[in-house]
Amino acid sequence: MAIDGPSGAGKSTIARGLASRLGFIYIDTGAMYRAVALWALRQGVDSADMHRMEQLAVAAEIELAPGRISLNGEDVTEAIRTPEVSNGASKIGVIPGVRRAMVAKQREIGERTSVVMEGRDIGTVVFPQAEVKVFLDANPEERVRRRYQEIRGKGEPVPITEGQLAVEMRERDERDSNRRDAPLSQAPDAVYLDSTALSIPEVEEAILKIVRSRVTNGRDFS
Ligand code: C5P
Repeated sequence: MAIDGPSGAGKSTIARGLASRLGFIYIDTGAMYRAVALWALRQGVDSADMHRMEQLAVAAEIELAPGRISLNGEDVTEAIRTPEVSNGASKIGVIPGVRRAMVAKQREIGERTSVVMEGRDIGTVVFPQAEVKVFLDANPEERVRRRYQEIRGKGEPVPITEGQLAVEMRERDERDSNRRDAPLSQAPDAVYLDSTALSIPEVEEAILKIVRSRVTNGRDFS
């Protein structure tokens, strides 16, 4: 199952919940781009250096376990959630060589097992054959509000104001939507779902309805 959409639309929460209800593996592809961005920041590699960035993306040993991600053997689950890394991930996401390396890793995981995979290009590029595709959206104000609540909910000093976050998210959305290679876009056969006024269980239920209708048609889904 493929879930794509902009940041703050609820993809991670929904994908995690659905994976657990369906007994599938949840794959957060944004976390993979974030892990490579973190490595680049630590190594002082300029995100505009396409060749070096591709080398890092190919060499990165990324392991996904339920709720955790490790990079080259180190647990980086919390370290990848800073505004600096968010920004870096979106910058390296425009580099075709980086995307090729990430897509190859994602396909390898998805071919082994049934997954709920979320990102920006899952239904369009990574698994165009996915049986269930959802494009999850919400209005920009609501997406900023949710992201800000999420950051505040960590109980640590908040490194950014809501206004700064809104600017940062707008820049990131623009970069993700306008890049030449695999921009954020809805696959023609994806179901569009606006989560602005919906609760988490309501969004889950709407997607499960789509899943059930596919299963009833006697088809397998991934
Ligand atoms: O989903 P998340 O906000 O963690 O993703 C971080 C960044 O990684 C996105 O802004 C996007 O630029 C990039 N990304 C991507 N393709 C994906 C997932 C994430 O380009 N499939």
